[in-house]
Amino acid sequence: MDRKLIFEISRPGRRGATLPAADVPVCEVEKLIPPEYLREEAPNLPEVSEIDAVRHFTGLSALNHGVDTGFYPLGSCTMKYNPKVNEDMARLPGFASIHPYQPAELTQGALELMWLTEQYLAEIAGMAGVTLQPAAGAHGELTGLLIIRAYHKSRGENRTRVIVPDSAHGTNPATAAVGGFEIVQVKSDERGGVDLESLRSAMDENVAALMLTNPNTLGLFDENIVEIADIVHKKGGLLYYDGANANAIMGIARPGDMGFDVVHFNLHKTFSTPHGGGGPGSGPVGVKDFLTRFLPKPVIGQKNGMYFLDHDRPDSIGKMHSFYGNFGVVVKAYTYIRALGGEGLRAVSEHAVLNANYLMARLRETFNLAFDRVCKHEFVLNSKNQKSFGIHTLDIAKRLLDYGYHPPTIYFPLIVEEAMMIEPTETESKEVLDGFVETMLKIAEEIEKDAERVKTAPHNTVVGRLDETLAARQPVLKFKPSE
Ligand SMILES: *Cc1c(COP(=O)(O)O)cnc(C)c1O
Repeated sequence: MDRKLIFEISRPGRRGATLPAADVPVCEVEKLIPPEYLREEAPNLPEVSEIDAVRHFTGLSALNHGVDTGFYPLGSCTMKYNPKVNEDMARLPGFASIHPYQPAELTQGALELMWLTEQYLAEIAGMAGVTLQPAAGAHGELTGLLIIRAYHKSRGENRTRVIVPDSAHGTNPATAAVGGFEIVQVKSDERGGVDLESLRSAMDENVAALMLTNPNTLGLFDENIVEIADIVHKKGGLLYYDGANANAIMGIARPGDMGFDVVHFNLHKTFSTPHGGGGPGSGPVGVKDFLTRFLPKPVIGQKNGMYFLDHDRPDSIGKMHSFYGNFGVVVKAYTYIRALGGEGLRAVSEHAVLNANYLMARLRETFNLAFDRVCKHEFVLNSKNQKSFGIHTLDIAKRLLDYGYHPPTIYFPLIVEEAMMIEPTETESKEVLDGFVETMLKIAEEIEKDAERVKTAPHNTVVGRLDETLAARQPVLKFKPSE
């Protein structure tokens, strides 16, 4: 990597700003500060001109792959394009400069926006009430499980187990563990759905909930969902819907109608907030009417045309986030929902599913398809056909980088060996999808002719293949200046 650190381009005395001479002599300032707080030597800060700083950081920003720079088919992550108008709305001074301690009388617009967003999400989910407090999907899962626990407790029951299918996103069992539950895994059947026999034998009066995603992480819709719900409900358990990726069902099918009692959405996936860089996100949770009394407080109420914060909620599980959650993300989701409307949201789902099936149809001859079924917003291939050339899925993913594509999600879901989980999203054109297909086919051809080229990829990126174990176990996070 020939790119230099900003410390390395630093030259003593070089400055990025032109400031007038201080009108208070430094020696006078030093007199005001107690000696123990004064440095003995100047800090080791880079000294560069403005143009050097601009070039340095602009260069760094271009090293990263992003949705704005190229196709990003990361399954279970919904890296869709996020319309910039969302950002403009979140930056309106009335939203961006509002202070969380401002009283309800002075923040009616913001409260109305949150109240409406709750209504929209409740409608999309088929739920009765929604909280916007959770800051991410996993945080929403925890909120949901705490609500479920409060519900069982209110009936004098202390249920200790949560059922999670083996295809689940890793946050599901992690959340159940953090929530203090014992995790019971159920198998997937040969069609990729929940194995009903396995579920029946796992289900008893000690199970608090089943956590499920439908379509699941294989991108497959579980047609047995009504029966699944019945098995769980009959023994007094509740159904939790992981709606992080609702791109396939929005406007078409509702978790509430499928029998789910609690759901979370990821506004930073389905509802178009940029993500992947560490936040902020938002994981609103919706619940059926018999659970609304347990929602985190305060909840937004409406009385005589005025919105207010209702703290008088004796059964609430309490607060899950300071103030109201990540309000800016809610503004973006509100903008997105209002811009598209009900029909637009349905079209999003239809296009996401169409794009995924198109890619699947074009790639399935060359790469092995894990489950041969119509998919929803994503599908799972593996590298079984390329195995005899000594090729692993990781090699294909690395070679895609050479061609300017972000690789799909790999080695997840865990139940498919050497998995490649592809989610094109609805925002990509046919031309982009075709370009990706041609690149994948080209890589398959390379594997047959020159597997070594693929095994040693990437070749065109700033850094080559990293030792991922070493990077995880002994990360070097800090620049140490050479003496
Ligand atoms: C992303 C995702 C989550 C977790 O969401 P975070 O916001 O990263 O906590 C949970 N479940 C599924 C299916 C997901 O794709």
